[in-house]
Amino acid sequence: MFTGGIKQSEFETQDTFESLGLSEPILNVLAEVGFEKPTPIQAGVIPIALAGRDVVGLAQTGSGKTAAFVLPMAEKLYRGDGLRGLILCPTRELALQAESFLQSFGTGDRRLRTACLIGGVKYPPQLEALRNGPDIIVATPGRLLDHVERRTARLESVEVLVLDEADHMLDLGFLPQINRILDRLPKERQTMMFSATMPSSISRLAQLYMKDPETVDLRPETRVADGIEQRLYLVEPDDKKRCLLSLIAEEPGAVLVFVRRKLDADWACRQLQLEGHPVEKIHGDRTQSERVRALSGLRQGEHRILVATDIAARGIDIPVIEHIINFDVPQTVEDYVHRAGRTARGAAGGTVSCIASWTDTEMVRQIESGIGTQLPRFEAPGVPAYQERKKTIKGRERVRRRLR
Ligand code: ADP
Ligand code: MG
Repeated sequence: MFTGGIKQSEFETQDTFESLGLSEPILNVLAEVGFEKPTPIQAGVIPIALAGRDVVGLAQTGSGKTAAFVLPMAEKLYRGDGLRGLILCPTRELALQAESFLQSFGTGDRRLRTACLIGGVKYPPQLEALRNGPDIIVATPGRLLDHVERRTARLESVEVLVLDEADHMLDLGFLPQINRILDRLPKERQTMMFSATMPSSISRLAQLYMKDPETVDLRPETRVADGIEQRLYLVEPDDKKRCLLSLIAEEPGAVLVFVRRKLDADWACRQLQLEGHPVEKIHGDRTQSERVRALSGLRQGEHRILVATDIAARGIDIPVIEHIINFDVPQTVEDYVHRAGRTARGAAGGTVSCIASWTDTEMVRQIESGIGTQLPRFEAPGVPAYQERKKTIKGRERVRRRLR
């Protein structure tokens, strides 16, 4: 059931499940289900949870949040008696998934009984599970409250509470039920909350019901600093170069030009040289010393333009950069935010411009929705703007053919 999903290569945590403080029996189960390394959210949350502290775990869907609470719970609760864990999930499917993963830790001489209280299912099997004295209840809020009100489930001895997919639960309108459940839980307990986003309703929930929680925030960065002016230049594909040259001619400061591939970096650098601009480039095929020279040259004003690919520009911090020009639209929101972050270092302001044509419409839309604002439309001197929506299908077809 719990297999596949996460590509380990995407993550860079140095931790092992062992170094996080999990014991032999848990490690064995992990080996059985094929989890080799903790994901970042697991590496961040598990030690805090094992220490008994409240924790808020924020990470995208698919980042492995289930195991981030199931593992420490299993570690702590498989010995001993009585209901001590409660996991609230927004949907039946998520509750069943969490329960099934939990159950893999309750085999052999280890005891870990669970009850899954979800709606749309008959009561008798749930009553049976409750009579068996579960260690952990996994539930959706509505059905759990039914059981509490019928006194078939009691919550007085819960030691660990998990609110899984908290944002999703609030979206589904579960806040009143959650409040009622939380009011019946012992004040002395550990609370863990997981969410993909952190709207103010979630922070309020944490404030109300958690004790000095530690937050592990692994959400992708989607904020562009306030001091950065963002601009979108919509042009015909054939006008992108003209637009770039126009923007560079317009403003005097140091410019970082982003392109998608190494080849594009070579090409753009050459085009700018042909126009007489002092320019350097960094990309994956350049040696370390070429890279260092290009960066320090920009810093010292030997050339005012640097052309770069995303990977080559990771983390560069050059305060003189005033203008970021995305000659190719970034492929992800994170790349957009990272590129934008190369300007306005320190106190200085900066500008990030995107040169886009109709082929980039979808990516522009994703960036705008990711950063939560519409990019203001600008027009470069001497370069006609591509008319959004007004374009005829015929016209698009012509351009598409020409591009091939
Ligand atoms: P989230 O709740 O953050 O959306 P899940 O807990 O549902 O993510 O996990 C997503 C997928 O990743 C599941 O298929 C799960 O089995 C898998 N997974 C979680 N942790 C690991 C790990 N450490 N190694 C390999 N796969 C993992
Ligand atoms: Mg989840």
